[in-house]
Amino acid sequence: MSKVLVIGCGGVANVAIRKCCQVSEVFTELCIASRTKSKCDALAAALKGKTATKLTTAQVDADKVEEVIALIKAYQPDLVMNIALPYQDLTIMDACLACGVNYMDTANYEPEDTEDPAWRAIYEKRCKEAGFSAYFDYSWQWAYRKKFEDAGLTALLGCGFDPGVTQAYCAYAKKHEFDEIDTIDILDCNGGDHGYAFATNFNPEVNLREVSAPGSYWENGHWVEIPAMSVKREYDFDKVGRKDMYLLHHEEIESLAANIPEAKRIRFFMTFGQSYLDHMRCLEDVGMLSTAPVLFEGREIVPIKFLKALLPDPASLGPRTHGKTNIGCIFTGRKDGQDKTYYIYNVCDHQECYKEVESQAVSYTTGVPAMCGALMLLTGQWTTPGVHTVEEFDPDPFLDALDKYGLPRSESHAPALVD
Ligand code: NDP
Repeated sequence: MSKVLVIGCGGVANVAIRKCCQVSEVFTELCIASRTKSKCDALAAALKGKTATKLTTAQVDADKVEEVIALIKAYQPDLVMNIALPYQDLTIMDACLACGVNYMDTANYEPEDTEDPAWRAIYEKRCKEAGFSAYFDYSWQWAYRKKFEDAGLTALLGCGFDPGVTQAYCAYAKKHEFDEIDTIDILDCNGGDHGYAFATNFNPEVNLREVSAPGSYWENGHWVEIPAMSVKREYDFDKVGRKDMYLLHHEEIESLAANIPEAKRIRFFMTFGQSYLDHMRCLEDVGMLSTAPVLFEGREIVPIKFLKALLPDPASLGPRTHGKTNIGCIFTGRKDGQDKTYYIYNVCDHQECYKEVESQAVSYTTGVPAMCGALMLLTGQWTTPGVHTVEEFDPDPFLDALDKYGLPRSESHAPALVD
């Protein structure tokens, strides 16, 4: 019996909300709130008569703490699920603290305006000290740890697939498969084809910022940064086949380095097709990925936001995407004095997702873990107060929930390793 406020009503939130509505015995009441209320109303209307969850909708600009506070006070939820954008993480955390409510999200904080001088000064210091230059990092949200602890509240960060399930896989490997983990390779393969020359599978702005940034990995206690897309490997993915993948910086490496300190190397690889890479390079070369406003015919526009308006809406890719995703982690290490390797992953089919929730697998593989993370918090299985990433909690009930609600795990004890 619980009341949940979901903020955001885009591709990922649509899946998470539909999945919450399949578990009405826990998600008894749910308010869908976003910047554009008509999208919330449309989803609530589509679910009418199909769920026992009592749905309401609301308009909110989550960039404004006071608006979120007013909404929380009016609705009185047990949990706020932030499935808007990383830009809203801090304002929503502030509102949760002000109202005494638990919080969760699917991506760590990054600012919308990366030219803001106050943010930039802190960012540049962090680049030098930490050794990686992605715009996003956990420091902003980890700074809330004491406040959440003192308030007896839990904030669960990054509970999608990657970040999210990948960290639960790490916690599972540590708990059941290894005494000591030496290396972790996170492999994210999207073998789907939507038929467009170029489109992104989730929010284009967030996605393009992430993949155009320099790559980096954790090795022997420090970051190694490399030019974007400069490390390429080929891997033969179960149920997908051979794909090129590239080493990227990714947010869970940062928390895993802190929480599995014995790991000597942690890397993240994502598959990309040649068409995607060619388009991205060209867009970057002409300045279309810039977040700095430019003056165009008398008004300021932000190039990457304009590009977002031109690209297909990720939520519209569902009916036309065929193929499968395969995301998981490969480990090397030791158990009972013996060297061993282990691979845990999930395979998800785009068209199966579309049949179930009218969405492609990238939103599905993020929205289902968000629902399962909420389930852990609401059913009292993950309760430690403070600000936590997924690997800090018991992975067993979470992975059981994922098995049950659409993202079952597969395993191999003799995987091909990535060199
Ligand atoms: P979308 O762009 O599809 O949806 C974002 C939603 O947030 C929209 O409904 C948008 O409203 C709303 N929103 C944006 N700004 C505000 C605001 N100021 N106030 C209220 N609502 C706002 O994004 P996705 O669904 O693709 O992604 C959602 C989140 O999931 C992102 O943080 C993304 O980084 C994360 N993600 C995580 C993954 C993981 O594996 N961990 C993988 C993929 C995504 P409007 O309709 O008005 O634009």
